[in-house]
Formats: sequence, C-alpha cells, structure tokens
Amino acid sequence: MGYGSDIYRQAFEAVKQRRLKAEAVQRETYSKLCRLRPRISEIDHQLSSLGVQAAKAAAVGESVFDIKKEYDKLSAEKGRALSELGISPDRLEPHYECKECNDTGYVNGSPCSCVERLARDIAYGRLNSTAPAKLSDFSSFNLEYYSDRPLENGDVPSKIMTDNFMFAMEYASKFSLSSKSVLFMGPTGLGKTHLSLAIAKSVIDKNYGVIYGSAQDFMRKIENEHFGRESGDALGTLLECDLLIFDDLGTEFNTAFSVSVLYNIVNTRLLYSRPTIMSTNLTLKEIEDRYGERVLSRIIGSYFIKKFCGEDIRKIKAFG
Ligand SMILES: [Zn+2]
Repeated sequence: MGYGSDIYRQAFEAVKQRRLKAEAVQRETYSKLCRLRPRISEIDHQLSSLGVQAAKAAAVGESVFDIKKEYDKLSAEKGRALSELGISPDRLEPHYECKECNDTGYVNGSPCSCVERLARDIAYGRLNSTAPAKLSDFSSFNLEYYSDRPLENGDVPSKIMTDNFMFAMEYASKFSLSSKSVLFMGPTGLGKTHLSLAIAKSVIDKNYGVIYGSAQDFMRKIENEHFGRESGDALGTLLECDLLIFDDLGTEFNTAFSVSVLYNIVNTRLLYSRPTIMSTNLTLKEIEDRYGERVLSRIIGSYFIKKFCGEDIRKIKAFG
C-alpha cells in the first residue's frame, strides 16, 4: 500500500536510527572487550593487515599459503581468548532488528518489508491519535447498568445488552479478514463506543491493522486533504486497513461530499471483504434519509445489525 512520502521518510529514518543504535552498541561492546583484553585489538589489527596482504598477493598471482597459515593461527588465538572470557564471537557483531535488510531499509534495491510495516504503523498512529477515546476493554463493561424491566416495545435491556456483549466478545476473539461488518445502533450512552473500542483493542493485540475514530474526525480530515488544506491519505488508509471502527456515524457535518465518501467507504470495504464496525444514534430510516438508499441497502444486506437499548449509562453514573 502506498503512503505519503513524509511517512516513508519517517519510516526510513526510524530504520536508520535502529541501525546506528545496533552499531553503537557493537562498538561499545568491542571497546569494553579490548580494555579487558588488549591483545584482542592487536590481533584484529594484524588480521586486517593480513587480509590486505593476501588480497595483494592473490592479485599478482603469488602464493597466499603462509599468510593464510598466520591468519588461521591468529584467528584461533582470538577464539581462545573469547572463549576464556565466555563470549561467543557473534556477540561482537552488530545485532540488527531486521535480519532481512540488516536495518538498511533495502533488500535488492527495493524497500524492505520492515519499512512497509513501519510506514503502516506511522500512518495508523497518526490517524488513531485523533481518536476520541482511549481503547477500552471488555472487563470494564458493566452489564449491571442495564435494567431487567421490559421497555414499552417488550425489549428487555439486560437481555439484549448481554447478547450484544457476548456477540462483541466472540466477534473479537474470532476476528479474521473474512469477518462480517457490524452496525451498532441505539441512543447515546449505551456502550456502543465502549464495545467497539474493546473489539479494536483485542484485534490490535492480534496484530491486525485497525483504524478507529469518530465519523466527525475522519470526515474532517478526508475533506481537508481532498481540498488541499492538509497532506496525507486518510481515505486510502480507511479503505485499506484490516478493521475500520467508524464511530458515531451521523454526527459529522452533512454535505454531498461526506455522503459520497461514506458510500465509497462502505462500498469499497465490502467489495474487498474488509470488515468495518460502525456505530450510530441514527435509525435505519434516518440513515436512508441522510446517506441514501444505496448505503442503507449495503448495510442491511451485509452487516450484522445490533440494537442497543437501556438508559444512558453516563446519566446513571452521574445521578445513580
Ligand atoms: Zn528490513
């Protein structure tokens, strides 16, 4: 996936810092060792000068037999000195984080997969840093806030919310790229964001790329980028991430642009089978009025739809 050039610059810079750090640690280890056994540094100097001599001799067709014999003798002496100190020879090599590219960022002239991973983390980190809430978890979700008394329509909040909670836990634990998308519906303060972010946390822990945030923040960013007020590719990242948590649909400023962006997100992610979790205070009818029949029919046709009910938890916490 392509990211902005500043993201790649940042990723390559991070790889370079890793490399410099690994090499600094290696130099430090080596100089400590030489303070402990100065003979090791002498041997290394002799070995490198023998290497040069051997290359010169080979270039003019002379025998390197004696040089090699001396080289092997000194190497063996160095090996003995290290083993007396209990140090394995590979401790003297730099320990790079990425074994593919030795923290150079390139393999055969192309960017290494570690750079792609870093670029992804940077892009996700930038978007997720604007998220409205910290990641929640399932253990802090309290079902006692939901009443056993049936509502006017016969729904029993405690039962429905227990079902929703179990659904979210199972969805998170079984999450894969072929998971279905989900719509959490219901009034404010019933835990839609909490369960969405608990799923996000659990899916991130499985190393999937998850983007989470409010519709308002996402739309503002996409619009700013579209009209050249900000740089980046927020829309591309939203379309391509493994799981998108799109919170509070309907709270964003409603324009023809935001409606077409939402359709693009819903449609593209379904087309490529990428799961999305949306939450909204809107009813299905309101979704249709606001975003049109095309968006509604895709959601109804392909999403799990979970209705939340009960009393606003924030009010119960404040006054209960
Ligand atoms: Zn690498």
